[in-house]
Amino acid sequence: MLNRIDLRGGVRDPRRLLPRAQLDVSVAVERIRPLVEAVREHGYPAIREASERFDGISPEVLRVPVAAIREAEGTLDPQVRAALLESITRARKVHADQRRTDHVTAVVPGGTVTERWLPVDRVGLYVPGGLAMYPSTVVMNVVPAQAAGVRSLVVVSPPQKENGGLPDQRVLAACALLGVDEVYAVGGAQAVAMLAYGATVDPAGEQRCDPVDMITGPGNIWVTAAKRLLRGVVGIDAEAGPTEIAILADDTADPAHVAADLISQAEHDPLAASVLVTPSVALAEAVDAELARQVPAAKHTERITTALRGEQSGVVLVDDLEAGLRVVDAYAAEHLEIQTVDAREWALRVRNAGAIFVGAWSPVSLGDYCAGSNHVLPTGGCARHSSGLSVQSFLRGVHLVEYTQEALRDVAGHVVTLATVEDLPAHGQAVSVRFPGETP
Ligand code: NAD
Repeated sequence: MLNRIDLRGGVRDPRRLLPRAQLDVSVAVERIRPLVEAVREHGYPAIREASERFDGISPEVLRVPVAAIREAEGTLDPQVRAALLESITRARKVHADQRRTDHVTAVVPGGTVTERWLPVDRVGLYVPGGLAMYPSTVVMNVVPAQAAGVRSLVVVSPPQKENGGLPDQRVLAACALLGVDEVYAVGGAQAVAMLAYGATVDPAGEQRCDPVDMITGPGNIWVTAAKRLLRGVVGIDAEAGPTEIAILADDTADPAHVAADLISQAEHDPLAASVLVTPSVALAEAVDAELARQVPAAKHTERITTALRGEQSGVVLVDDLEAGLRVVDAYAAEHLEIQTVDAREWALRVRNAGAIFVGAWSPVSLGDYCAGSNHVLPTGGCARHSSGLSVQSFLRGVHLVEYTQEALRDVAGHVVTLATVEDLPAHGQAVSVRFPGETP
């Protein structure tokens, strides 16, 4: 079922041979650019039009009434409520440990630099709702933002026909459980543009969604494209687009588990990527046989088959686990599972991955919901330079520079020298003017 890429015999730079989707984010950016411009210029009517077109529905007033959010909590199935609360508790535990404290460095006597960690003031959190509904993503966005101390949180999520144009009822309930009451029934690129520029959200133009300082959260290729386009207008966490799973596995892996994990992520999106990297032809064949057995029995067979057969998915055959490690590093997967002997040792050697799931009992689905780790993770190779969502994503480090007169006098000569070298003498003058009659 999976495409086969044979890298045995040694390949120096595997990156260009790895499976990747053709429809990449830069292509999608050009497609959504006019929509983003329209939202910037016209606000509400442009948002409504896009929602009608892409979601088939939009409520007349885009802001979800606070009463509807509270009501949604009341309609939550007790089992779902318990699972969400468990997810929140575990995520809070991990994210509380990520909090940073201010740090004072005594550079010289009388000269200190204090690093202060300040939360972003207002953030927009994207919660997907196209092919699947994601109350778990409310948890993954809101928990780190709250742990960071963000004061103003806005959730956006696509309107649902089944819920009369409001976002999914479980998404609203998760907002209620976490105390978020500013929610808009808007999805896609139009939601990202609304958050970035601010917009009116009712026909009379009386209500507004104020612009945010930063947007986080996962989404499909259109959401990801809008985030890339608007980076700079607002802060963006990372490109957390269509899901990817790579599994580095050897003969010790259970093919039924490997196949189930590949399927679990393919279920997100026809553009999702499922990649097995292995030195074992026997495992590759056993996994293929398992896929042939498990995929037809899955609920979303069509979506899964499209994702698994797509050019972005496949089995990569390698000479040995060392070569496999080079491949997974070059691929830089959003999710990387290590199902090998000595899995932890191999995991500790990985350089590029959004999150690493170690051994037979830590599947990606655990991380999607209840490991305590965050499931908003970089895709498309961005794990080479970006991290998953964390408390740190919502903090800015600000330096407080405090020198006494003596401490400045001691270093004045060096400042003047460097200013002269850069032909910026006014910089030097700003120091020497403080010490009239002295030669720095
Ligand atoms: P979504 O909310 O991301 O996308 C739905 C929206 O896309 C709609 O509201 C619509 O406005 C817009 N849209 C649909 N077709 C369009 C088109 N042709 N042009 C412009 N806009 C269009 O929900 P989804 O579709 O279910 O996707 C969720 C995505 O999030 C999946 O790709 C999933 O893999 C991914 N995901 C990623 C992570 C991560 O951390 N990387 C985590 C969870 C989910």
